[in-house]
Amino acid sequence: MRAPVFRFAPSPNGALHLGHAYSALINHRMAQAAYGRFLLRIEDIDLGRCRPEQRDAIFDDLKWLGLDWETPVRLQSQHFADYSEALDRLVDEELVYPAFMTRRDVRAFISERQHWPRDPDGAPLYPDLDKQLPAAERQSRLSSAVPFAWRLDVDAALQHAGSPITWFETGSGPDGETGTVNAEPAAWGDVVVARSDIPTSYHLAVVVDDAVQEITDVVRGLDLFHATAVQRLLQDILGLPVPDYHHHRLILDQDGRKLSKRHGDTGLASLREAGATPADIRRRIGIE
Ligand code: GLU
Repeated sequence: MRAPVFRFAPSPNGALHLGHAYSALINHRMAQAAYGRFLLRIEDIDLGRCRPEQRDAIFDDLKWLGLDWETPVRLQSQHFADYSEALDRLVDEELVYPAFMTRRDVRAFISERQHWPRDPDGAPLYPDLDKQLPAAERQSRLSSAVPFAWRLDVDAALQHAGSPITWFETGSGPDGETGTVNAEPAAWGDVVVARSDIPTSYHLAVVVDDAVQEITDVVRGLDLFHATAVQRLLQDILGLPVPDYHHHRLILDQDGRKLSKRHGDTGLASLREAGATPADIRRRIGIE
């Protein structure tokens, strides 16, 4: 049997905090317990916000915590060709469509309506106007220089996938979901799969990379539990293998809020500079 493969996949758009330390340490520990491999992946598709210094700071913080990982580390910014190829398949199969409405357009559109469905993160679902565009109009907009996003036609994708979409949860969801979970990707509407300037989005890059890296166990924070539904659908329509998922508790601040990259007092580098040791960090996040 092949060894299980785990990964920690931070985005270098800010400093790592206690929540990242928890996720990285849990991944590493689970990989060791399963005699598996532990990979680090840098999710830097957002070229405007991700900085090489922040990537190096991630390496420093993780080394300081006592972690080691296989090299070379996969940097998503170096693999746009892989995502393009997956995107082309979705375009050819008409499972995505070009979407031209800006966030402001969507806000204006829904402000004229009484009730408008929202996704699990609270954002309004994308209206289906662009999906209905006549082919000639779509073509003329595509040949002009207006920016657009490729959005998943979730209804077409679900039809294409055929059978109900599930995943195996070895951790637990916000309502205690565990074992076989029924995925509800339609709750997210037509999500962005790529942009006109970047041939991917978070969801597409994650599923392509998890497949390329042969990840068997995706271990990450509870905040990504519902997003798993979209990723499972993408895996099915792209014919990619399906890992098991383990969503873990989030580390919260004193006020019970999710940690953000802006809060210096929970940043690993600031804690280190203030004299904390890796053992202090482990104690603080409940990993002895
Ligand atoms: N890059 C994502 C983040 O930093 C995590 C992606 C994942 O674990 O699937 O939130």
